Amino acid sequence: MLLSPRVTRLQPSATLVMSQKSAELKAQGIDIINLSVGEPDFDTPEHIRAAAKQAIDDGQTRYTPVPGIPALRKAICTKLQKENGLDYLPEQIIVSNGAKQSVCNTLLALCDEGDEVIIPAPYWVSYPQMALMAGATPVIVEAGIEQGFKITPEQLEAAITTRSRVLILCTPSNPTGAVYTAAELEALSAVLRRHTQVTVIADEIYEHINYTGQHASIAACPDMKERTVIVNGVSKAYAMTGWRIGFIAAPTDIAKATQKLQGQYTSNPCSVSQYAALAAYEGAQDCVEEMRQAFARRKELIVGLACEIPGFEVSDPDGAFYVFPKCSALFGKTDGQRTINTSTDFALYLLEEAHVATVGGDAFGSPDCFRMSYATSDDNIREAMRRIREALMRLR
Ligand code: PMP
Ligand code: GLU
Repeated sequence: MLLSPRVTRLQPSATLVMSQKSAELKAQGIDIINLSVGEPDFDTPEHIRAAAKQAIDDGQTRYTPVPGIPALRKAICTKLQKENGLDYLPEQIIVSNGAKQSVCNTLLALCDEGDEVIIPAPYWVSYPQMALMAGATPVIVEAGIEQGFKITPEQLEAAITTRSRVLILCTPSNPTGAVYTAAELEALSAVLRRHTQVTVIADEIYEHINYTGQHASIAACPDMKERTVIVNGVSKAYAMTGWRIGFIAAPTDIAKATQKLQGQYTSNPCSVSQYAALAAYEGAQDCVEEMRQAFARRKELIVGLACEIPGFEVSDPDGAFYVFPKCSALFGKTDGQRTINTSTDFALYLLEEAHVATVGGDAFGSPDCFRMSYATSDDNIREAMRRIREALMRLR
């Protein structure tokens, strides 16, 4: 079978591959602790589930407008006004099948062959692949653990060329948990104001899983709203990964362009899920804060335990539910049978020898580190860290 070069050069999602592998081993009866995929372990809150059941009974089971039902687009505008101080019109909101589609739609709407997409590393695995799908060239800007995993204005300036089309900024970050402050975003904006060819995709899907007490959006910096596409959604804040609802808030012409794309290849996102998302945005927000506090507590637990493991360098994350330790001090070591040379070798060693699923940093553009998701129980976290510690003691 002849496949297209577009799909042939595409890498599968490393997070999903590792999660699948972990599920397969579990199905064979092996007791795997899964710290690979990033998804809240909580059930979707009751009032959101009830709204979905009601929507089914009310017959909300047909096509909706491609960019989402008017009530949801309006509720999102209210959320952006209340929580972010940003004024958008409903026509600037496009609801999609998850924030993943929102990012991909935007890249497809903005980029062409030869365009450059600036992606700070460590990055979420899908960004460079989506840029490639759009025909663009990913330009990676490295921000290691020593700089808190955040790019500087000087690095951004040096990466921009006349072909730069998009900067993808994810805060709080997957995979590092780094959070840009309002001042840091303003410093990056000062660079971007000199280069009007660059549009920012601000991936704020982890907005509510923030331990600094303050989420800042680059769209709130002077003159930036007109050149920023905010990506957000209900997956992480409301434990709704399976419902597949994300959105963009964008300048009207970009919103219209993504609507056209979406109208040709997925149509509207699931009607029932849209009613669930509406309940999430319009209902009480206590559930969001309760889950945030649980993640904050687990972060303290996992960071404390990871810091005690010889060979790990751990940066304390300010948001999301990932910890991204540097593990390269262990490269070159062996248990007598296999040698660990890369972060992917390291993650496979942990999977097979400790029965803990993680993701190697290679796929995140950071080959010295690996990612653990702590969206799991305290008991799982304790047991996973005990197993990792024990497996690493066998290395020489
Ligand atoms: N952006 C980032 C940084 C993510 O971690 C995820 C989670 N997969 C997404 C976007 C996509 O979220 P969704 O499940 O809503 O598609
Ligand atoms: N955001 C999650 C992760 O990074 C979901 C998996 C994915 O969509 O890649 O693990």
